[in-house]
Amino acid sequence: MKVVEIDSIPLSYPLRNGDSYGNARGLVTARQCTLVKLKTESGMIGYGEAFGSPKIIHSLIEELREWFLSKQLFDYPTIASKLLNGFYHLASKGYLVCAISGIEMAAWDAMGKTLGMPVHKLLGGKARDTFMAYGSTGYITESNSLERLKEEVHLVESSGLQAVKIKVGTSLQEDIERVEIVRTLLPDIKIMVDINGNYTPDLAIQMIERLKPFELYWVEEPVPPHDLHGFRQIKHAEPGITLATGEAEYTRYGFRELIQEKLVDIVQPDLAKCGGIYEAKAISMMAQANNIRISPHVWGGVVGRSAALQLMASIPYYPHSLKEPEPMMFEYDLGENGLRDEIGTSPIQLENGTITLLDKIGLGVELDEEKVQHYCIS
Ligand SMILES: [Mg+2]
Repeated sequence: MKVVEIDSIPLSYPLRNGDSYGNARGLVTARQCTLVKLKTESGMIGYGEAFGSPKIIHSLIEELREWFLSKQLFDYPTIASKLLNGFYHLASKGYLVCAISGIEMAAWDAMGKTLGMPVHKLLGGKARDTFMAYGSTGYITESNSLERLKEEVHLVESSGLQAVKIKVGTSLQEDIERVEIVRTLLPDIKIMVDINGNYTPDLAIQMIERLKPFELYWVEEPVPPHDLHGFRQIKHAEPGITLATGEAEYTRYGFRELIQEKLVDIVQPDLAKCGGIYEAKAISMMAQANNIRISPHVWGGVVGRSAALQLMASIPYYPHSLKEPEPMMFEYDLGENGLRDEIGTSPIQLENGTITLLDKIGLGVELDEEKVQHYCIS
């Protein structure tokens, strides 16, 4: 089964009213991603998603096409691994890995559709189909308004979510104010905070100390991804805090030290960025072999979100065999994003804070071609 066409569709969704939101490292005025569309010789279509500036990804996919076109569909994960290895001068991190991730993800969708199976069946089978969703919200804005934070927290409550992650990292004082508001409004909920790597280790340790009364569920990216020694310092100073990271890391080799040295407790590969679905499965199995939890980063469009769920469904229970002491957490982004909410439907149901993955073939996404074209910027 050869692949006969590979195209990319760069997408941009401008935020309403020229609004912007983001994290302590920066704000965005549009949500963007690139869809990769491939077609097999039997006419089967598969879609993948790549993270990053769509214009850059679009041009990289033009360059990568020759390495994939006319190759066997079911060899694509291996071809992607070979390229990540072969392009070692360029492809250990960054845009090229994102572009390869999008092509590889599209192949899994086409493989599933060809066999009439959901992708998780091809990844080892279904270990689970329900996940605890956490609302990813409380974004940093230009004014960093606490009123807006309160509105976003109300949305978490009305959605029935039992866990929430908010952005912090602008200053210790603002962090305390923001977390205090959330804890006051939602006294029984799990609260995570995301610094997006905006602190030095000493500041991160001070923040963790000062936020202890609020019983944080996890602290995400306390220091920049390359500051592995910073993670060591924080782990040493705060052994009782749960640390998560990985959204800005690439390939199993990028995750290796984090996992093998147990610098964090939860790894967060992004499937549209880390090298693709096969690479994310390798990262997940390496984490599991080291008794570390997995919770993929999900901050893109509808296709990348479904890919994350397919992977999560395929991860076996370990070390517990019957009932997990803590659920596998699914990042349910509540930020405005038409590329997630308007261009297609996901194979998921959200009820009382629990996400259920429905058995749909491939990645399970049904795209609205007209809406896709509406947000296409090529
Ligand atoms: Mg994050």
